[in-house]
Amino acid sequence: MDQTLVILKPDCVKRGLMGEVIKRFEEAGLLIVAMKMLSLSREEASEFYRVHQESDFYEGLIEFMISGRIVAMIIEGEQAIKRTREMMGATDPAQAVKGTIRADLAENNRRNLVHGSDSPAAAREEIDFFFKPDGG
Ligand code: UDP
Ligand code: MG
Repeated sequence: MDQTLVILKPDCVKRGLMGEVIKRFEEAGLLIVAMKMLSLSREEASEFYRVHQESDFYEGLIEFMISGRIVAMIIEGEQAIKRTREMMGATDPAQAVKGTIRADLAENNRRNLVHGSDSPAAAREEIDFFFKPDGG
């Protein structure tokens, strides 16, 4: 069993698409084992996405991620990391395979509804980022 960290981004919450996205994960047999709604501070968003700090889209990404509430969740299942990434589709919805969350529902390559950890190491780190053992 893998665990992965998925974020429903501010566009997902504002557009009322939380249920639709969650339904897709649940119908695929993946289990949500932890979930919380929160707003990221600029410092937290910058830390979470620090691997992208040299990218030209970094500032815009941070502004987007702090623009509204998000939902962080731990998703568990067989190959959960790989399968959630497949179900999300490519970063740019215009490039994503039909039937994926981003291809079907996302606006553009920034406002693309969801984040999912891309490796076991990232999953562990990102789960710890949002769900500290002390519940904080
Ligand atoms: N992003 C963006 N502009 C780009 C590429 C990415 O704003 O040209 C944002 C987008 O929200 C993406 C996030 O930065 O989901 C992280 O980028 P990454 O390449 O890691 O994509 P992901 O792993 O989310 O598919
Ligand atoms: Mg990524």
